[in-house]
Amino acid sequence: MLGVDSFFPKQCVGCGKRGWFLCPDCRAGLARVSPPFCPRCGRPQMSGIMCARCRRSRADLDGIRSVFIFEGVIREAIHQLKYHNLRAISSCLAEFQAAYLSANSLPGEIVVPVPLHPGKLKQRGYNQSSLLVREICHLTQLPAVEDCLVRVKRSRPQVEASSAEERRENVADAFACRDGRVRGKRVILVDDVRTSGATLESCAGALKREGAISVWGLTLACEI
Ligand SMILES: [Zn+2]
Ligand SMILES: [Zn+2]
Repeated sequence: MLGVDSFFPKQCVGCGKRGWFLCPDCRAGLARVSPPFCPRCGRPQMSGIMCARCRRSRADLDGIRSVFIFEGVIREAIHQLKYHNLRAISSCLAEFQAAYLSANSLPGEIVVPVPLHPGKLKQRGYNQSSLLVREICHLTQLPAVEDCLVRVKRSRPQVEASSAEERRENVADAFACRDGRVRGKRVILVDDVRTSGATLESCAGALKREGAISVWGLTLACEI
């Protein structure tokens, strides 16, 4: 029987080398988010203390961490995962998140994906964050709790909202959580890319209202 690789031969999304989704050279060249950064939003920041934006805003999220800066090869990898049906790359990408979790010991007992708009889910056929969560949980042995967050109001796609403030308003209370599995738990909330952080924040609010003790966002990459 022909394996999946026969239909989708692995090819590095960065340089085209065969046999890898991300070859060792391209992996080594990825731009990691490294300290100093804001302890809350995780954005690179010279002082290493809480940034002005975080000081101004209320927070249900205890913090956000991202493995990479959203640029170059990782941007292309995420693009392939989301828009070109390259689901198989999720295991390679989730490895980075799982390794980050073990190296940085973020408090987490369960792992939850940010849900996709139902319309988009129908169109795409899968939620890329759920794919990442399954792989992360496979590697870390933490339990995945999928489908505990639901979108309760239709927010416009984030790309259409221009300012950070607009993005925040756009997704405020856009999520609800009615699921006892999050009660009393420390949650790791997973998404592929952090843009303004408003989506993660809104999800964290819903999780906390349902009784989650803490919520840390973990994204593969962040826009800065
Ligand atoms: Zn490469
Ligand atoms: Zn900050």
